[in-house]
Amino acid sequence: MKRDAAQQSRQLLSDFRAIMQSADPPEVRLSQVVGLVARNMDAEVCSIYVRRADGSFELFETEGLRREAVHLTRLEPGVGLVGHVAETSLPVRLRDARSSPAFEPRPETGEEAYMSFLGVPILHGDRVVGVLVVQNVSARDYQDEEQEALEMLALVFGQMIASGALVPPETAAESVRSNGLPTRLAGRSLSDGFAKGKAVLHAPRISVRQTMADDPEAERIRLDDAIQDIHAQIDEMLAQPAVAAGESRAVMEAFRLFAHDPGWQRRMREAVDTGFTSEAAVKRVHDQTRARFRKIPDPYIRARLADMDDLANRLFNRLNTGITALDRDLPDDVVLIARDMGPAELLDFDETKLRGVILEQGSVGSHMSIVARALNIPVIGGCKGATDRVDPGDLVIIDGDHGQVFVRPDSDVIKAFGETEAMQQEVEARRRALRDVRAVTLDGVDVELHCNAGLLLDLRHLDETGAAGIGLYRTELHYMVRSRLPRMQEQSEYYKHVLDAAGDRPVIFRTLDVGSDKLLPYMKRDPEANPAMGWRAVRISLDQEALFRMQLRALLAASSGRELRVMFPMIADVAEYEAARALLLREVLWAHDRGREGPASLKVGVMLEVPALVWRLPALLPRVDFVSIGSNDLMQFMYAADRGNARVASRYDTLSPGFLSSLRRISDLCQASDVEFSICGEMASRPLEAMVLVALGFRKLSMRPNAIGAVKEMILSLNAGALREEMAQLDQRHESSLRPLFEAYARDNGVKV
Ligand code: PEP
Ligand code: MG
Repeated sequence: MKRDAAQQSRQLLSDFRAIMQSADPPEVRLSQVVGLVARNMDAEVCSIYVRRADGSFELFETEGLRREAVHLTRLEPGVGLVGHVAETSLPVRLRDARSSPAFEPRPETGEEAYMSFLGVPILHGDRVVGVLVVQNVSARDYQDEEQEALEMLALVFGQMIASGALVPPETAAESVRSNGLPTRLAGRSLSDGFAKGKAVLHAPRISVRQTMADDPEAERIRLDDAIQDIHAQIDEMLAQPAVAAGESRAVMEAFRLFAHDPGWQRRMREAVDTGFTSEAAVKRVHDQTRARFRKIPDPYIRARLADMDDLANRLFNRLNTGITALDRDLPDDVVLIARDMGPAELLDFDETKLRGVILEQGSVGSHMSIVARALNIPVIGGCKGATDRVDPGDLVIIDGDHGQVFVRPDSDVIKAFGETEAMQQEVEARRRALRDVRAVTLDGVDVELHCNAGLLLDLRHLDETGAAGIGLYRTELHYMVRSRLPRMQEQSEYYKHVLDAAGDRPVIFRTLDVGSDKLLPYMKRDPEANPAMGWRAVRISLDQEALFRMQLRALLAASSGRELRVMFPMIADVAEYEAARALLLREVLWAHDRGREGPASLKVGVMLEVPALVWRLPALLPRVDFVSIGSNDLMQFMYAADRGNARVASRYDTLSPGFLSSLRRISDLCQASDVEFSICGEMASRPLEAMVLVALGFRKLSMRPNAIGAVKEMILSLNAGALREEMAQLDQRHESSLRPLFEAYARDNGVKV
């Protein structure tokens, strides 16, 4: 049966090719093609709709519908069954279309007469450029093979529409190319910073030159060879010393898993058996995967789409050019433009040349964004149309702080950027010069500046910034970039690596803080209405004891003979802390009983980020060695304002009297109990906020590494005692934010914020 279907498809493709190779004008060939499809599929109607520049879908040719509707009927995405296919990029197969709520027949087409409907998207890249439809008068159950055959033809149509071979080029959706004029694109900042460079289009859309293979047997061998090469290439990358340790390894392992996915390989082989070239098979399977993935609401899965793109591109490049590694000549200042990108692709590039990245998609939590932030490469995501509107070699300026991209900027923008850049370089040089200067205020208050980290890539910042240590090591990132739970041994080697890099400087390891927006691919979880307030962080650790104990055991093993600091996230009450600590102590005993050398000293603390715990400090403080405030979460829970929701997150200010009063209470209570305390949320990274924190009694701040210079500069120009006095009446203030007041204070008193 399968073989018959394959033979039939081959015949259809071959007839199709014969029509396309004829000398007739495109419109004649198109009309012959729809006739051929209708006959072949035993359908009364075959129509092709093509996307126009305004986004609507125009009936371009039909066999069976009324001719006068051709070029007249236009459907908006989402309207009618065709619009539904266009919008969802998924096929629609209906025995009785007329009973579907989406059925909205256009009277001029005469389609009310047809009962069954099968429509498939015509894709180019992941964009729907048309819809191919067959219809029948009677109720008919279209079979899987029939849908497959129609999808196969849709692939060929996609090609032809994109190349202008079937439809005059000006009507093709691709005609929204750049116009060569200066343009500004808006997006979301996924990694902050400014950058200027030449546009390099990364992995341009896979564009298949030949769709049908001359010799399917030989083609099958060609595909298998290419797949094997890709497998070997990934293994080779894994064997490189630079990849062998650290995140790149985890990333590549996840990637290897995708590459070995039997389903992915099988679907491509089936496509080749049907008569496609290997390139067309890669594209077809990839387009289908993309269309499927895009509909999945789970942000974690969607973020993995970039890994699939990466894989398809590698395979495609291998087939097309025989090249397995990325070795093209690049300018010295590259701004990469891509639909989306996997972290492996980013790591492929010469880091010294890469200035910034612009993505049409991308999310803050994607692996690529995590790695880019660690590498300090500005990234703008959600930049719609970037791959169309930027041409290779264009000058591009990225303003990562405001989520803006200037394409082919005019001289004024270039000049303004040049000035900003020069100023920034000057400021950076000045701050770098402070690397070894003690952070002490004008009135002699010493402040320890630590950095936050979560990837091995971050560790170099310790030396670069002169940080006193790592005030927050987000251990979950190590788990997040892997495709499976890291084994105990791997974890302990990883932590050891961190401790080695830190040397004498203290490191606070925060135990696994997954859940909410940080998901592990290998950990099943039920959907939650409020994940930020759901099963996350220490709640998971306490419920999944084995997972937690494995991490604790690894931390203990890594720190034998050294100091170990462990911090539990999202602790909401004293009992939770006690339970977590008891498990840690059990692991200490376990190791001790086996004669293993434990840490030279062990300090255990909590992350203060749930408001309820602020009211339990009198009971908690005698039991902990330290406390670190996670102001990101504390603020979101204190004000009931989702930190990831731009609409509400900026509504309330960390410099509000309410939040500052809580911070002062924490500071006073910790000092009275002589318990070490610090703050490691984003707040500490901002000089103005840091100024206020120092005045409130904070002597230890942990922040983004690239903020250390600015915060140190602020501290060197601050009189902490004087500001503290000004703040005595905090509780009496009525304003919702004291920011303007503090700004004025800094200005009037020469505090560099
Ligand atoms: C915080 O909540 O302030 C914090 C530092 O933790 P994370 O941002 O990782 O939730
Ligand atoms: Mg937090």
